[in-house]
Amino acid sequence: KSVKEDDEIKELKSKYDSIDVKNITFFKDLPLSQKTMVGLKKSRYFKATEIQRESIGCALQGRDVLGAAATGSGKTLAFLIPVMENLFLKKWSRADGVGCIIITPTRELAYQIFEVLKKVGCEHDFSAGLIIGGRNLKFERSRMDQCNIIICTPGRLLQHMDQNPLFNCSSMQILVLDEADRCLDMGFEETMNAIIENLPPERQTLLFSATQTKSVKDLARLSLSDPVYVAPIEQA
Ligand code: ADP
Ligand code: MG
Repeated sequence: KSVKEDDEIKELKSKYDSIDVKNITFFKDLPLSQKTMVGLKKSRYFKATEIQRESIGCALQGRDVLGAAATGSGKTLAFLIPVMENLFLKKWSRADGVGCIIITPTRELAYQIFEVLKKVGCEHDFSAGLIIGGRNLKFERSRMDQCNIIICTPGRLLQHMDQNPLFNCSSMQILVLDEADRCLDMGFEETMNAIIENLPPERQTLLFSATQTKSVKDLARLSLSDPVYVAPIEQA
Protein backbone atom coordinates (compact mmCIF):
# COMPACT_ATOMS: atom_id res chain seq x y z
CA LYS A 1 0.00 0.00 0.00
CA SER A 2 2.73 2.39 0.97
CA VAL A 3 4.74 1.77 -2.20
CA LYS A 4 1.62 2.42 -4.25
CA GLU A 5 1.09 5.64 -2.34
CA ASP A 6 4.70 6.71 -2.92
CA ASP A 7 4.20 6.20 -6.63
CA GLU A 8 0.98 8.17 -6.59
CA ILE A 9 2.66 11.04 -4.74
CA LYS A 10 5.53 11.11 -7.20
CA GLU A 11 3.15 11.17 -10.12
CA LEU A 12 1.01 13.95 -8.65
CA LYS A 13 4.05 16.12 -7.95
CA SER A 14 5.28 15.68 -11.49
CA LYS A 15 2.01 17.05 -12.86
CA TYR A 16 1.82 20.25 -10.82
CA ASP A 17 4.05 22.29 -13.12
CA SER A 18 1.85 21.77 -16.12
CA ILE A 19 -1.49 22.70 -14.52
CA ASP A 20 -3.24 25.10 -16.85
CA VAL A 21 -6.34 26.86 -15.54
CA LYS A 22 -7.79 27.08 -19.04
CA ASN A 23 -7.98 23.29 -19.23
CA ILE A 24 -9.81 22.76 -15.97
CA THR A 25 -13.54 22.25 -15.87
CA PHE A 26 -14.00 19.22 -13.65
CA PHE A 27 -12.12 18.23 -10.52
CA LYS A 28 -10.84 15.22 -12.45
CA ASP A 29 -8.93 17.65 -14.69
CA LEU A 30 -6.69 18.48 -11.71
CA PRO A 31 -3.94 16.20 -10.41
CA LEU A 32 -5.68 15.19 -7.17
CA SER A 33 -5.12 12.16 -4.98
CA GLN A 34 -7.42 9.17 -5.33
CA LYS A 35 -8.58 9.73 -1.76
CA THR A 36 -9.67 13.28 -2.49
CA MET A 37 -11.29 12.28 -5.79
CA VAL A 38 -13.34 9.58 -4.06
CA GLY A 39 -14.38 12.04 -1.33
CA LEU A 40 -15.48 14.58 -3.94
CA LYS A 41 -17.39 11.95 -5.88
CA LYS A 42 -19.16 10.66 -2.78
CA SER A 43 -20.13 14.25 -1.93
CA ARG A 44 -21.34 14.67 -5.52
CA TYR A 45 -18.93 17.45 -6.44
CA PHE A 46 -17.81 17.11 -10.05
CA LYS A 47 -17.51 20.49 -11.72
CA ALA A 48 -15.26 23.13 -10.16
CA THR A 49 -16.64 26.61 -9.57
CA GLU A 50 -14.73 29.63 -10.89
CA ILE A 51 -12.86 30.37 -7.66
CA GLN A 52 -12.00 26.68 -7.31
CA ARG A 53 -10.78 26.47 -10.90
CA GLU A 54 -8.60 29.51 -10.54
CA SER A 55 -7.13 28.98 -7.09
CA ILE A 56 -6.65 25.23 -6.57
CA GLY A 57 -3.94 24.86 -9.23
CA CYS A 58 -1.82 27.71 -7.84
CA ALA A 59 -2.29 26.39 -4.33
CA LEU A 60 -1.18 22.90 -5.42
CA GLN A 61 1.93 24.48 -6.89
CA GLY A 62 2.71 25.76 -3.42
CA ARG A 63 1.92 29.43 -3.98
CA ASP A 64 0.22 31.63 -1.44
CA VAL A 65 -3.24 32.63 -2.65
CA LEU A 66 -5.27 35.78 -2.07
CA GLY A 67 -8.78 34.87 -3.20
CA ALA A 68 -11.67 37.25 -3.52
CA ALA A 69 -15.06 35.80 -4.31
CA ALA A 70 -18.66 36.39 -3.23
CA THR A 71 -20.51 34.33 -0.65
CA GLY A 72 -21.76 31.10 -2.15
CA SER A 73 -19.02 30.86 -4.77
CA GLY A 74 -17.46 27.72 -3.28
CA LYS A 75 -14.52 29.03 -1.29
CA THR A 76 -14.62 26.14 1.18
CA LEU A 77 -13.49 23.53 -1.34
CA ALA A 78 -11.11 26.08 -2.88
CA PHE A 79 -9.07 25.78 0.32
CA LEU A 80 -9.99 22.32 1.64
CA ILE A 81 -8.77 20.53 -1.49
CA PRO A 82 -5.28 22.10 -1.39
CA VAL A 83 -5.12 21.48 2.37
CA MET A 84 -5.87 17.77 1.93
CA GLU A 85 -3.40 17.45 -0.95
CA ASN A 86 -0.66 19.31 0.93
CA LEU A 87 -0.88 16.96 3.91
CA PHE A 88 -1.36 13.87 1.76
CA LEU A 89 1.79 14.59 -0.25
CA LYS A 90 3.73 14.93 2.99
CA LYS A 91 2.23 11.67 4.24
CA TRP A 92 0.98 13.54 7.27
CA SER A 93 -0.35 11.26 9.96
CA ARG A 94 -1.86 11.61 13.39
CA ALA A 95 1.52 11.47 15.08
CA ASP A 96 2.75 14.50 13.10
CA GLY A 97 0.57 16.93 15.03
CA VAL A 98 -0.96 20.14 13.73
CA GLY A 99 -0.39 20.43 9.98
CA CYS A 100 -3.07 22.95 9.12
CA ILE A 101 -4.96 25.73 10.88
CA ILE A 102 -8.16 27.13 9.35
CA ILE A 103 -9.38 30.38 10.88
CA THR A 104 -12.95 31.51 10.27
CA PRO A 105 -14.91 34.28 12.02
CA THR A 106 -17.80 32.39 13.63
CA ARG A 107 -18.55 29.06 15.28
CA GLU A 108 -21.30 28.46 12.78
CA LEU A 109 -18.88 28.78 9.85
CA ALA A 110 -16.35 26.58 11.63
CA TYR A 111 -18.99 23.85 12.00
CA GLN A 112 -19.89 24.13 8.32
CA ILE A 113 -16.25 23.78 7.23
CA PHE A 114 -15.84 20.82 9.57
CA GLU A 115 -18.87 19.10 8.05
CA VAL A 116 -17.60 19.60 4.50
CA LEU A 117 -14.15 18.32 5.49
CA LYS A 118 -15.66 15.25 7.12
CA LYS A 119 -17.42 14.45 3.85
CA VAL A 120 -14.78 15.23 1.23
CA GLY A 121 -11.98 14.03 3.52
CA CYS A 122 -13.65 10.74 4.41
CA GLU A 123 -10.99 8.64 2.68
CA HIS A 124 -8.01 10.45 4.17
CA ASP A 125 -6.34 9.42 7.40
CA PHE A 126 -5.76 12.75 9.08
CA SER A 127 -7.81 13.94 12.01
CA ALA A 128 -9.63 17.24 12.29
CA GLY A 129 -10.99 19.15 15.25
CA LEU A 130 -12.99 22.25 16.08
CA ILE A 131 -11.52 24.82 18.46
CA ILE A 132 -14.32 27.30 18.81
CA GLY A 133 -15.01 28.06 22.43
CA GLY A 134 -18.30 27.56 24.17
CA ARG A 135 -16.96 24.23 25.36
CA ASN A 136 -14.75 22.99 28.10
CA LEU A 137 -11.28 24.48 27.58
CA LYS A 138 -9.65 21.44 29.18
CA PHE A 139 -11.44 19.11 26.79
CA GLU A 140 -10.21 21.15 23.85
CA ARG A 141 -6.70 21.22 25.30
CA SER A 142 -6.42 17.52 25.64
CA ARG A 143 -7.62 16.96 22.10
CA MET A 144 -5.68 19.63 20.29
CA ASP A 145 -2.38 17.89 19.86
CA GLN A 146 -4.18 14.94 18.28
CA CYS A 147 -5.64 17.11 15.54
CA ASN A 148 -3.90 17.42 12.19
CA ILE A 149 -6.34 20.02 10.91
CA ILE A 150 -7.67 22.59 13.36
CA ILE A 151 -10.72 24.62 12.41
CA CYS A 152 -11.07 27.55 14.77
CA THR A 153 -12.32 31.01 15.56
CA PRO A 154 -9.63 33.69 16.12
CA GLY A 155 -10.27 34.44 19.80
CA ARG A 156 -10.28 30.83 20.87
CA LEU A 157 -7.14 29.98 18.95
CA LEU A 158 -5.21 32.86 20.50
CA GLN A 159 -6.46 31.79 23.93
CA HIS A 160 -4.90 28.37 23.40
CA MET A 161 -1.69 29.88 22.05
CA ASP A 162 -1.41 32.09 25.14
CA GLN A 163 -2.54 29.69 27.84
CA ASN A 164 -2.10 26.14 26.67
CA PRO A 165 1.44 24.84 27.06
CA LEU A 166 0.48 21.70 25.14
CA PHE A 167 -0.43 23.65 22.05
CA ASN A 168 2.30 23.24 19.51
CA CYS A 169 1.98 24.46 15.95
CA SER A 170 5.67 24.54 15.13
CA SER A 171 5.25 21.94 12.40
CA MET A 172 2.32 23.68 10.75
CA GLN A 173 2.41 23.53 6.94
CA ILE A 174 -0.59 25.46 5.73
CA LEU A 175 -2.70 28.30 7.10
CA VAL A 176 -6.16 29.24 5.84
CA LEU A 177 -7.77 32.57 6.62
CA ASP A 178 -11.42 32.22 5.65
CA GLU A 179 -13.75 35.21 5.41
CA ALA A 180 -10.88 37.48 6.35
CA ASP A 181 -12.96 40.61 5.81
CA ARG A 182 -15.54 39.46 8.32
CA CYS A 183 -12.87 38.52 10.86
CA LEU A 184 -11.60 42.08 10.64
CA ASP A 185 -15.10 43.62 10.71
CA MET A 186 -15.77 41.71 13.90
CA GLY A 187 -12.83 43.38 15.61
CA PHE A 188 -10.34 40.53 15.36
CA GLU A 189 -7.59 42.55 13.71
CA GLU A 190 -5.21 42.53 16.67
CA THR A 191 -6.04 38.92 17.43
CA MET A 192 -5.27 37.89 13.85
CA ASN A 193 -2.00 39.79 13.87
CA ALA A 194 -0.97 38.15 17.14
CA ILE A 195 -1.85 34.69 15.80
CA ILE A 196 0.15 35.23 12.62
CA GLU A 197 3.17 36.36 14.63
CA ASN A 198 2.97 33.11 16.59
CA LEU A 199 2.95 30.86 13.53
CA PRO A 200 6.01 29.44 11.80
CA PRO A 201 6.92 31.67 8.83
CA GLU A 202 7.81 28.71 6.61
CA ARG A 203 4.28 27.81 5.58
CA GLN A 204 1.78 28.17 2.79
CA THR A 205 -1.09 30.60 3.36
CA LEU A 206 -4.45 30.82 1.60
CA LEU A 207 -6.49 33.93 2.36
CA PHE A 208 -10.10 34.22 1.22
CA SER A 209 -12.37 37.16 1.51
CA ALA A 210 -15.61 38.33 -0.08
CA THR A 211 -14.34 41.91 -0.34
CA GLN A 212 -10.95 43.58 -0.65
CA THR A 213 -10.92 46.36 1.93
CA LYS A 214 -7.85 48.21 3.08
CA SER A 215 -7.69 46.15 6.25
CA VAL A 216 -7.83 42.92 4.23
CA LYS A 217 -4.90 44.21 2.18
CA ASP A 218 -3.01 44.98 5.40
CA LEU A 219 -3.65 41.48 6.68
CA ALA A 220 -2.62 40.03 3.32
CA ARG A 221 0.65 41.94 3.44
CA LEU A 222 1.33 40.56 6.90
CA SER A 223 0.39 36.97 6.25
CA LEU A 224 1.11 36.19 2.59
CA SER A 225 4.31 35.93 0.67
CA ASP A 226 4.32 36.72 -3.06
CA PRO A 227 0.65 35.68 -3.42
CA VAL A 228 -1.31 34.88 -6.54
CA TYR A 229 -4.33 37.15 -6.66
CA VAL A 230 -7.49 35.34 -7.72
CA ALA A 231 -10.69 37.28 -8.22
CA PRO A 232 -13.10 35.73 -10.68
CA ILE A 233 -15.82 37.91 -12.12
CA GLU A 234 -19.26 37.26 -10.63
CA GLN A 235 -20.49 33.72 -11.02
CA ALA A 236 -23.65 32.81 -12.87
P1 ADP B 1 -18.52 30.34 0.11
O1 ADP B 1 -17.62 29.89 1.24
O2 ADP B 1 -17.78 30.94 -1.03
O3 ADP B 1 -19.62 31.23 0.59
P2 ADP B 1 -19.31 27.57 0.07
O4 ADP B 1 -17.98 26.93 -0.02
O5 ADP B 1 -19.96 27.58 1.39
O6 ADP B 1 -19.23 29.06 -0.50
O7 ADP B 1 -20.23 26.87 -1.03
C1 ADP B 1 -21.54 27.36 -1.28
C2 ADP B 1 -22.44 26.21 -1.75
O8 ADP B 1 -22.01 25.74 -3.01
C3 ADP B 1 -22.42 25.01 -0.81
O9 ADP B 1 -23.73 24.54 -0.68
C4 ADP B 1 -21.56 24.00 -1.53
O10 ADP B 1 -21.94 22.68 -1.23
C5 ADP B 1 -21.82 24.33 -2.98
N1 ADP B 1 -20.66 24.01 -3.83
C6 ADP B 1 -19.39 24.41 -3.63
N2 ADP B 1 -18.57 23.95 -4.60
C7 ADP B 1 -19.35 23.23 -5.45
C8 ADP B 1 -19.10 22.50 -6.66
N3 ADP B 1 -17.89 22.45 -7.18
N4 ADP B 1 -20.13 21.87 -7.24
C9 ADP B 1 -21.36 21.95 -6.72
N5 ADP B 1 -21.68 22.63 -5.59
C10 ADP B 1 -20.70 23.28 -4.96
MG1 MG C 1 -17.31 30.36 3.19
